[in-house]
Amino acid sequence: MSAKDNSKKILEEVRRTQQEREKTYRERALKLYPWICAHCGREFEGKRLKELTVHHKDHNHDNNPPDGSNWELLCIYCHDNEHSRDQVADAYGDAASDSSSDKGGTTNPFAGLGEMLKGKLE
Ligand SMILES: [Zn+2]
Ligand SMILES: [Zn+2]
Repeated sequence: MSAKDNSKKILEEVRRTQQEREKTYRERALKLYPWICAHCGREFEGKRLKELTVHHKDHNHDNNPPDGSNWELLCIYCHDNEHSRDQVADAYGDAASDSSSDKGGTTNPFAGLGEMLKGKLE
């Protein structure tokens, strides 16, 4: 195995870990619960699964107990209703302000990583 193959492998691993961290609670919630909207009872699978979202019952996105007790799977429509009904605008505001630096920025989190790995492998 060449060092090149090896660093490619590590890069893929890093990328995967990063993606997993971003959607951890969604992944975990989808493993815990059947893929059904808790409000309207619609079932989701395949591509449409992205319309099924994780609602935090206490509206605190940082409260993610491992047993999933703060999560509820809701379709995007019911999820919207849930929030507009309570008029908890900051449930979304929170997420936006907390993680805006992680998402959609122009910075490449892997910039410089190649250099770093090179140093490590040699
Ligand atoms: Zn629904
Ligand atoms: Zn919600």
